Amino acid sequence: MNCIQCGSQIPDDARFCAYCGARQPSVTEELAEAGREVMAATAAVVERVIEAARPAAREAAKTAQKTAETGKRVAAKTAKELEPVVKKTTKVAKRATRKAARVTKAAARRVKRAAKR
Ligand SMILES: [Zn+2]
Repeated sequence: MNCIQCGSQIPDDARFCAYCGARQPSVTEELAEAGREVMAATAAVVERVIEAARPAAREAAKTAQKTAETGKRVAAKTAKELEPVVKKTTKVAKRATRKAARVTKAAARRVKRAAKR
């Protein structure tokens, strides 16, 4: 391997450089450094993904809000349009019920009269 300081060719298991005396990183240290680099790279990628997804998320939130507002407006309009229909239907039903009651009473009187004879 090469010295990390002066670049001289030194044995793979040398802990110090025979030419400049620089301490060479152990395998453990090199692994730890590699691990830190991988973690930093992963964090950078995650950050970039989040950054890239942010506008889409904002757009989706805006669309969802608009949809909810439209839904609310449509529901309010439908309720307003249905109100007279409901009122009229109720009136007609009440009238029909009163008429049915009158007819039933009259029929009952006729039945009573017929029974007396
Ligand atoms: Zn060296």
